Order: sequence, then C-alpha cells, then structure tokens
Amino acid sequence: MKIICIGRNYAEHAKELNNEIPTEPVIFLKPQTALLAEGRPVYYPEFTDDLQYECEVVVKICKNGKYTQEKFAPKYYNEISLGIDFTARDLQNKLKQKGLPWEIAKGFDNSAAVGRFLPITADMDIGNLDFELRLNGLQVQHSNTKNMIFNVNRIIEYASRFFSFNIGDLIFTGTPAGVGAVNAYDKLEGYLEGEKLLDVDIR
Ligand code: MG
Repeated sequence: MKIICIGRNYAEHAKELNNEIPTEPVIFLKPQTALLAEGRPVYYPEFTDDLQYECEVVVKICKNGKYTQEKFAPKYYNEISLGIDFTARDLQNKLKQKGLPWEIAKGFDNSAAVGRFLPITADMDIGNLDFELRLNGLQVQHSNTKNMIFNVNRIIEYASRFFSFNIGDLIFTGTPAGVGAVNAYDKLEGYLEGEKLLDVDIR
C-alpha cells in the first residue's frame, strides 16, 4: 500500500507557512513503513529538533483504479478517519529552500499516524465534516472539510492520472491552520464530528 498526501489544501495553513495557494493539488507520498501501528507511540526522531503535527482527514481506498473521474471517485473510498502527518519541519524547510524533495522530512518511519476508521455512510456528507486536534487536552487545530481547496473527489481524479490506486491505499487530505511542535510526553487526540478517532502519544 501507499500513502498519498496533499500539501497546502487549506488556504489558512498555506498562508501560515508562507506558501502560495496552489492551483493544482500538491502531492507527495509516504512509504508503507511510515504507517504507525494503531496504539503505538511515536518516538521523537534523532534527526530533527522540530517535529510538528499536522492533523488531516484520511480516506481509505476500497477499489483499484487509474484515471478515475471525479464523478465516479466516491465509489473508490469507503472509510474515513483522522491522521497525523508528522513532519520534521526544520529538515523540510532546509530542503524547500534548496528546491529539493521533502521525503526524508515527511516519509520517515512512523510519520503517518492513523486513527480508527469509520465506514462512510449514505447520510454522511464528507464535504462538511468538522474536525479538531487537541494537544495535551487543548484544541490546537479546528476546521471543516468544506474548507479544503481540492475535495477528496478532485484529489482522486488528479492523483490517479499519475498513480494507480490500490485497495488499502490511504489519502491524507491536507492540514488546516494551527500546525505546531510536539515534545516527548505530549498527547495528541483527534475528533471527527465530536467523536474521538485518534490518540497518539509522543515519547
Ligand atoms: Mg500535511
């Protein structure tokens, strides 16, 4: 499986990192080894001094596809959760300045935490879901999927031009404003429509 991630998909977050608002989805990948097993802590990596959280809505692919049109995209995912796109921001900033790829800053082991998945039901409007992240009990990120610049279906249409989708692939749909640093012994909790789906400890 692979993890397809979208960058700069919320205008307020693009601004907070001094990035332009994209006209097409910004895509990067994390390898399978980035996936943090559920219930496991994240150990602060030795190669960074600025490990940051990015809380994101995550969907799971349930059907193989390539060149999937936006209107058919809803058939290709059937579960939703919240995840953390852990980022070594100091490394990423260095690489960005040089115009180099981000992978070591974004795709390192255990950099993709994912919570409990919920089935996407007929009465769920995935274009209007509230979500929030709490750091040590205090809200640090709060947004709604309606604020995405590119919605899930647009993302699938665009990304599937380049990458075939396989059953079990995950899409991290981008983070809203409020990203920040974590430290050892912090606790991150993610809520989707008020329901707690994600719980990650930093060690
Ligand atoms: Mg992200």
